[in-house]
Amino acid sequence: MRFSALRILKEGLTGNKGWTPHWRDPAPKPAYDVIVIGGGGHGLATAFYLAAEHGLTNVAVLEKGYIGGGNVGRNTTIVRANYNMPGNSEFYSHSLKLWEGLEESLNYNVMHSQRGVINLFHSDGQRDYAARRANSMINQGDDAILLDREGVRRMVPYLDFENVRFPVYGGLYHPRGGTARHDAVAWGYARGADMRGVDIIQNCEVTGIDVENGRVTGVQTTRGAIKAKKVGIVVAGRSGQVAALAGMRLPIESHVLQAFVTEGLKPCIDQVITFGMGHFYISQSDKGGLVFGGDLDMYASYAARGNLPLVEHVMEAGMTLMPMIGKARVLRSWGGIMDMSPDGSPIIDKTHIDGLYLDCGWCYGGFKAVPGSGNCFAHLIAQDRPHPAATRFRLDRFRTGVGLMDEEGTGSQHNLH
Ligand SMILES: Cc1cc2nc3c(=O)[nH]c(=O)nc-3n(C[C@H](O)[C@H](O)[C@H](O)COP(=O)(O)OP(=O)(O)OC[C@H]3O[C@@H](n4cnc5c(N)ncnc54)[C@H](O)[C@@H]3O)c2cc1C
Repeated sequence: MRFSALRILKEGLTGNKGWTPHWRDPAPKPAYDVIVIGGGGHGLATAFYLAAEHGLTNVAVLEKGYIGGGNVGRNTTIVRANYNMPGNSEFYSHSLKLWEGLEESLNYNVMHSQRGVINLFHSDGQRDYAARRANSMINQGDDAILLDREGVRRMVPYLDFENVRFPVYGGLYHPRGGTARHDAVAWGYARGADMRGVDIIQNCEVTGIDVENGRVTGVQTTRGAIKAKKVGIVVAGRSGQVAALAGMRLPIESHVLQAFVTEGLKPCIDQVITFGMGHFYISQSDKGGLVFGGDLDMYASYAARGNLPLVEHVMEAGMTLMPMIGKARVLRSWGGIMDMSPDGSPIIDKTHIDGLYLDCGWCYGGFKAVPGSGNCFAHLIAQDRPHPAATRFRLDRFRTGVGLMDEEGTGSQHNLH
């Protein structure tokens, strides 16, 4: 079923009775060429690109819960390509370009909105870093504009510019950054993969990974054993646990990140704004809710819910930056489990087991990476060599120390990235 304006008009006039499910609900087959473990954004995108770009359609995505139930449906939806370091810079640039053609490639409205991202800075040192980052972005072919205080004031006049402790010095503006509707991204990729023959199997938890003579041969699941020539692990916050099924210990810690949404308001925040001193970020959803978040909860956990001190911290940061936010009522908050790597950058690599591949370490920035990660992971699985945009995301950098990409300069403490 393809979406088109004509189709929407027809359905609107005939009681919306002609829509069909977006993807099938198949039983697992005994064997596949490729099994992707994890039906989050990254797993579904991987399956989509395996089929769409590499002609691999005998593929299953195994998801222990339901599509969209993980971080892909829990994030604050920010999409950007404003990284500084070689490795990250070209990858996120590649991902943003895929975002820009995504609705057309999927024939699905993911509500990608390039409303611009403004990263505020509040000191001379932060301004220097913003200028350096802007130059890296421009060198990479992306867009960056350094705004002074008046430039920021013209765009977002409601900030507390004169805050004694954190006065706004200016901002790094990234016009092509923005947001997308997170669960629509999962649904769009699931539908696109399914249309090309991929089996999307929900309520199917992988409980074991079968390895014979150093080669993966399949997986054990709550719906039985399934054989596979190749297996990709893409399970975000559960990466450590699932890799352990193959006897691997990953350099990943799982931490909780919370997000918040207010009641629906009339349009008042046009861009995505981030607060350089308080790690607070905010945008307004198309329904009108203010969507915002802050730091990790600061301790390792698999609980997809957060603690109250962090709630207070995030609210304080919001009130410091834009006191007007205090009039809005918070409707909901929730948490997701982040796969934090020691340098804050991801891993897309083969493992020491033939046919077993790994995609993880997205920390709290993996939503914007969904198209790029799926695209590059599919390339690695299909061709057994890294995609040119993801050559530096090697697992062994944490063993050798060569090629670490510590974007934040915070060292090897997982919860600080
Ligand atoms: C509150 C919050 C805010 C965020 N904000 C942003 C943001 O603004 N911008 C941004 O770029 N990123 C953001 N992120 C990060 C981003 O959401 C994640 O990095 C990304 O979604 C992770 O990849 P995923 O979508 O594949 O994960 P998930 O959706 O979590 O997918 C992993 C899937 O694996 C499944 N799974 C786990 N174990 C098994 C098993 N044994 N068998 C089968 N399936 C299994 C899980 O059920 C899950 O569905 C945020 C995250 C959170 C929680």
